[in-house]
Amino acid sequence: MIGGMQDFALRISSIMDHAANEHGARGVVSRYADGQIERSNWAEIRHDSRRFAQAMERLGVKPGDRVATLAMNHGRHVVSWYGAIGMSAVLHTINPRLFDEQIVFIANHAEDQVLFYDAAFAAIVERLKPQFTTIRHFVCLDDNGQCSDDATYAALLAAEDGNYVWTTGDERDPCMLCYTSGTTGDPKGVLFSHRSTVLHALAGIQPACLGLGPDSCILPVVPQFHVCAWGIPFAAAIAGAKLVLSATNDPASMCELMRAEKVTHSAAVPTVWLGMLAYADETGITPPPLEKVVIGGSAAPRALVDRLMNMGISVSHLWGMTELSPIGTVSRKGHDFASMSREDQLDLLAYQGGVPYGVEMRIVDADGAALPRDGATSGRLQVRGPWVIERYFRDESGPAVDADNWFDTGDVAIITPEGVMQIKDRVKDVIKSGGEWISSVTLENEALGCAGVAEAAAIGLPHPKWDERPILIVVRKDGADVQEADVLAHLSARVAKWWLPDRIVFADSLPHTATGKLLKTALRETYGTISLSA
Ligand code: AMP
Repeated sequence: MIGGMQDFALRISSIMDHAANEHGARGVVSRYADGQIERSNWAEIRHDSRRFAQAMERLGVKPGDRVATLAMNHGRHVVSWYGAIGMSAVLHTINPRLFDEQIVFIANHAEDQVLFYDAAFAAIVERLKPQFTTIRHFVCLDDNGQCSDDATYAALLAAEDGNYVWTTGDERDPCMLCYTSGTTGDPKGVLFSHRSTVLHALAGIQPACLGLGPDSCILPVVPQFHVCAWGIPFAAAIAGAKLVLSATNDPASMCELMRAEKVTHSAAVPTVWLGMLAYADETGITPPPLEKVVIGGSAAPRALVDRLMNMGISVSHLWGMTELSPIGTVSRKGHDFASMSREDQLDLLAYQGGVPYGVEMRIVDADGAALPRDGATSGRLQVRGPWVIERYFRDESGPAVDADNWFDTGDVAIITPEGVMQIKDRVKDVIKSGGEWISSVTLENEALGCAGVAEAAAIGLPHPKWDERPILIVVRKDGADVQEADVLAHLSARVAKWWLPDRIVFADSLPHTATGKLLKTALRETYGTISLSA
């Protein structure tokens, strides 16, 4: 057929060029761990990224090689992403909160060639250096505080002029690598392509998702090592938004930076928001009047959403996972949302939402047969689409999907006839009582609405009659004196009687994974010896 359209590869470098050419003066502001503020913009980020690419070539990094980072959120980390990817290397973010053995496993499995690290993590690097089998160069992102003999980012870039042309290639080439946090077994690598990352970032800026434009100023509290900060460093560049990054994410620094930089948008896991509100209760210092916050990574508790909305903030709930780059679903607020009662709004926001264009989802039973979207039947949630995993990195055992590309998320969910999904649990965390399922997530979220409860975790323990029964482990708010009977009375009004925990245990704190999720395996170990009677 004669006629057609231009064939431009969807490469990450095109995002950087767009941001620098069209929104070059728009700010990229970083606060480093020592409190130093660095003001840059998209044009300067491109210049530095080009110098970074030149430095990588000088170090002998070849296209496809893995360049790793062990770093918090800041401009130099963003430069390392665009710079390494711009010369066709694969940027691998390592989560510094993982155990030593996991960091060593991940770096060796990825065959990382270069490691860039924050001075704050120099001790980890020094300790693990002898165990890294493939890393040839260690570079500190800070000017000092590095391990002995290691180069610094500033010295590396100072030798380059930025006169560099991005490498070209196929849009299906890999660009980033990120390992799942893996609560059981070895972490698994998810290898993103230029194409999947660009399409994901385009979906991310939509009004129904992050809602970014050139007038937005976004501070991703979510770390760059947690599924690429949910793609925000790419989405912000496409939108021409101002990007504010902080290497520390305690509530005091967050509130201060959000105010000083007039942040309008933010994204974080629920524990971060809970910390901000606890800080507000203690000090009277509240987050500024943000336009929009996105909560994801774990279910957003109703009480948290309510409080943020009371501050005039538009809240969206996001469900995703590393294997989805990570965006899967976002709150589906219809045309009538504003006129709904607060209770109805909160009911809607308790759902994880609908898929954007680019993701398809369905629920299936144990045999893989599709289940109805009736808002009541729950089943295993499966997804597919151009930013969903096909196969784990270097996994010889075969694809991670079935013949029709459906990826089983390991989550249990319902879907309403309107296409709105709600996560009920992880398949492995669901509590199986008398042949029926109890959602640990629902128990936890409802418990959080009880006065005096700071955090709660539900796990199933073996039971002689019912197979499993729930127990709830509760952390009290500072100074609170909430008792078992108070929590049970609160829950009785909100869940079925047979869902009520058999036991409520109080603890000083709960264990979390490196990305802030409740570590249920550790909880089962600690509390597994409690015996429940018939
Ligand atoms: P990760 O790949 O480490 O980010 O973990 C992905 C998992 O986190 C998902 O499979 C869900 O179980 C959980 N998750 C993420 N977002 C949410 C959410 N909004 N509500 C409930 N669970 C979530």
